[in-house]
Amino acid sequence: LAQLYGPLNMLGYLYRTINQSLVDTERLLKLLSEPREINDKPNAPDLVIETGSIEFENVNFSYDNRTTALDGVSFKVPKGSSVALVGESGAGKSTILRLLYRFYDLKEGEGRILIDGQDIRDVTQASLRKAIGVVPQDPVLFNSSIAYNIGYGKFGATQEEIVAAAKAAQIHDRILSFPDGYDTRVGERGIRLSGGEKQRVAIARTLLKDPPVLLLDEATSALDTSTEKDIQKALQNLVQGRSSLSIAHRLSTIATADLILVLKDGRIVEQGTHAELLAQGGVFAEMWADQVSSSDGASAHRKSAVVA
Ligand code: ATP
Repeated sequence: LAQLYGPLNMLGYLYRTINQSLVDTERLLKLLSEPREINDKPNAPDLVIETGSIEFENVNFSYDNRTTALDGVSFKVPKGSSVALVGESGAGKSTILRLLYRFYDLKEGEGRILIDGQDIRDVTQASLRKAIGVVPQDPVLFNSSIAYNIGYGKFGATQEEIVAAAKAAQIHDRILSFPDGYDTRVGERGIRLSGGEKQRVAIARTLLKDPPVLLLDEATSALDTSTEKDIQKALQNLVQGRSSLSIAHRLSTIATADLILVLKDGRIVEQGTHAELLAQGGVFAEMWADQVSSSDGASAHRKSAVVA
């Protein structure tokens, strides 16, 4: 029986990892309906990661074969660089993340999505999802200890690794302030964490998973200035050296992105760095001016911190 312990433990771990990754991803991707089933091709090989570069090549996509969700979208995320997606609601930001995670496959002739030159339709879903870390807007935590919630980012993570990840995610000091430190139970039957704290737990977990590719969905709700700063610092530690695609709601948080893609009606209408897009005086510059001017009035103090 003792011999079974290792394999059973591993199976339990795999089950929890897959389950949680689906829970988180569903929240991240705001799935409106069950995606149709995606099947691996017979004898599909695993994805082979060399640098983690991503490429969308003339991608067209419709959920219902009638309305267009993405229309000729092409861009590259070179190894280790950060790309931010901005645009009004319904512009296609989440669709780009959903397609990269392969909730849907592109039809033949409707473009290709490549990671390190491999069409993601041709590789196993398991290997694809292993290579991608997801930090959703509102992560789901297990009714278990905070150490467990961070630790299952990596099978067999040691306490030292968990603490190091929590420190890099700017949540260590907060954890030490809990009654039982890392053993404190969180979730519905434990202490309640704020949205910003849960997001930092998800960042710590993803640091332990150590994936070459990251999908991030920034929280829409306004955070106080110090939480915002902590999350920015945690995210900086996470995106360092990885290829990342982030949905940004607050334009101030993407000033340092290597490339910003501005989406409108499923198309990329502008792209460049923050400074380049402001200088262009187009859609992005207008969105920026709107966010700055909406900080006038009663909420000026709080929002000016957000756009600063
Ligand atoms: P938001 O900022 O509101 O999350 P978004 O930019 O992420 O918006 P998407 O969710 O990518 O936008 O939606 C792009 C288009 O696809 C929209 O027209 C939307 O109505 C449509 N769409 C999204 N999900 C589905 C779905 N599951 N079934 C049908 N249409 C969908």
